[in-house]
Amino acid sequence: MPASLHVPNVTPALLAKYDIPGPRYTSYPAVPDWHGAFDADAWASHLAVLGATDAPLALYVHLPFCASKCLYCGCNATVTTRTGIVERYLSRLGTELQLLARAMGERPRVVEMHWGGGTPNFLLDGQIERLHDLLLGTFDIDGRTELSVEADPRLVTRSQLRTLRQLGFTRISYGVQDLDPLVQEAIGRIQPVSLVRDAVTLAREEGFSGLNLDLIYGLPHQTPDRFARTVEGALSYSPDRVACFGYAHVPWMRAHQKRIDESVLPIAWERFALFRDAVTRFVDAGYRWIGIDHFARPEDPLALAADAGRLHRNFMGYTTRSGEHLLGVGTSSISEVGGWFAQNAPELGDWQRAIDAGHLPVARGHVLSDDDTARRTAIAHLMCNAELPFDLFVGDVDALVDRYEQFAADGLIEFEPDRITVTPLGRFFLRNLAFPLDAYRSATDGPRRFSRAV
Ligand code: SF4
Repeated sequence: MPASLHVPNVTPALLAKYDIPGPRYTSYPAVPDWHGAFDADAWASHLAVLGATDAPLALYVHLPFCASKCLYCGCNATVTTRTGIVERYLSRLGTELQLLARAMGERPRVVEMHWGGGTPNFLLDGQIERLHDLLLGTFDIDGRTELSVEADPRLVTRSQLRTLRQLGFTRISYGVQDLDPLVQEAIGRIQPVSLVRDAVTLAREEGFSGLNLDLIYGLPHQTPDRFARTVEGALSYSPDRVACFGYAHVPWMRAHQKRIDESVLPIAWERFALFRDAVTRFVDAGYRWIGIDHFARPEDPLALAADAGRLHRNFMGYTTRSGEHLLGVGTSSISEVGGWFAQNAPELGDWQRAIDAGHLPVARGHVLSDDDTARRTAIAHLMCNAELPFDLFVGDVDALVDRYEQFAADGLIEFEPDRITVTPLGRFFLRNLAFPLDAYRSATDGPRRFSRAV
């Protein structure tokens, strides 16, 4: 990746051509494309794979509680003011872990564990310790395991961070989104610059070695000037990593987003300009551009993995360690084990009922076919490396070459003797570049299942 980046201007026609809905490819097939009946009992039997292998495991723990609802939220979150609800959730998590332990047989070794949400730091210090103890009872988690946690800067306390550090957490990810007061008011998330700065300082003082900041572009009232100040503000904290996601406005799927005034949302070319300027600022500040929307300091393991072609993409986003398997616990969490995908019940009530009935709380899943596996390998390679060797092409190769020639004509890719490589402009359309490889995309795709690709 060059130290500075030149991205040509795009025409409205080009943007309109590619501003179409599609998956983000944290999995292939994408979750809405999982079809057919899924046998929860067969899933439980399949989990014996985890006990029978030394293959590294990544563990995701979903903690769905939040103190208030952000209007842009696309996560599975339950707003509450009662900490007692967390106690009951942890008790059931304990039961879910027992069910998993029975299914797995042996204790798998965990190479990375991530707590996400919701708001993991909605938990009190004692609840954090209790959850960690529950997990230690089921999995091999030790000093070699990389532990990371998402945190809301509005709730974070020194004792909470100290507790997490004592348990071995070294990476923390703060949701910043935007630092501008007008934008914050429009999205229902007020967190003044000083509050974010204090949260960053606390994390550094308590010894977190990896600091990630999440930003979102495409929010109401964002303009190039306002978002530039947010990006520069984020850079002033010297984060190790930044994720800069595009806001997915899907009010037909997330009813609370109807409270966002659509008349002040940036339109397609404005969204593109916001992200292009952000990319340019991060790259100019010395960060590596990783995949679609991540940035990392050159010495950060994520950047080193990207440089070495060892980057991975899973439901947690871009990662360095290939947990060959990913196991999710808690509501809505997604697992990927030995060619099978499964998602826990997204609704708290459904998840509780399944556990109380003594069942693993899976709601749906998908068993990968050979064709799925080949396409998944190609799409993951494209998403992580911004290139596609011809030997990873799947399906009707002639038709694929035709599709990619169109991308080449638009300046998104270049043909090499043995591969296609993605141009700096094409990096903005990486999702589009994966569509020809996706057997589940069709001309009949409606706009309602996925967010826009630009
Ligand atoms: S804190 Fe995060 S998970 Fe909770 S409502 Fe806000 S965006 Fe959603």
